[in-house]
Parts: sequence; structure tokens; C-alpha cells
Amino acid sequence: MFALIDAVSFYARVEKVFDPSIRNKPVVVLTNNDGCICAVCPMARELGVPKFIPYFKIKSFLAKHNVVVRSSNYELYADLSERMMNVITRYSDRHYVYSIDESFLHFRNFACIDDWHEYGHVIRKAV
Ligand SMILES: [Mg+2]
Repeated sequence: MFALIDAVSFYARVEKVFDPSIRNKPVVVLTNNDGCICAVCPMARELGVPKFIPYFKIKSFLAKHNVVVRSSNYELYADLSERMMNVITRYSDRHYVYSIDESFLHFRNFACIDDWHEYGHVIRKAV
């Protein structure tokens, strides 16, 4: 059995992890030099905020809807990625980190797992 893990809106979620005051607010993260939006949390997505749009084109819309805008902080994202991967690796025989928020798992000696869907939820909860 193989699994792919891909964190949703990773950069925006990391911002929320480290700043509880914005957890219930729409959040976007900007690319280097604040040029474009590179991450949109689900709340911001519901407002219609697209990824990869130049910031200047949507700046007033974001302000109007009280969207929290953060400059990217790649050291922070790498730190949380490492922590996330350290948790994930406990749940399989082999763990291959594919990107900052994606990894593959290979389960060779996990015949005891009856419900893989539930096992996925266990991993998600641990993360
Ligand atoms: Mg992702």
C-alpha cells in the first residue's frame, strides 16, 4: 500500500499555527518581494481569492474583506515541514519527502491495518 500526503494551503496554515489570532480569519501568503499570492487558506479561497495573482491587482479586495496578508517566511515553513515529516514518518515503513508539504508513504509490514481511510485520519490527527 502507498499513500500520498499533501498539506492543504501549507504556507497559510503554518502562519495560522504560529499566530493563533488569525486562525479564524482568511489568510494569504505572498511570494518573495510580495509580488504574487502563493498560498490561500480555505477561508480566503471561499471569498474568491485566487493563487498566483499579482498582489497589486487584488490588494484592495483583500483589505475590503479583512484578509490577513503575510509575506512568505520560508525558514518558518521549513521548520514546520520538518516537524510534520518527523510525525508522518512514524506511521509507515518507508517515508519519502517529495516537497515541503508532500510526502509518499510505503506500507510493507502493515497487514494489521483494516481501514486505510481511518489510518489516514490517525496520521492527519497526529500531524
Ligand atoms: Mg500542498
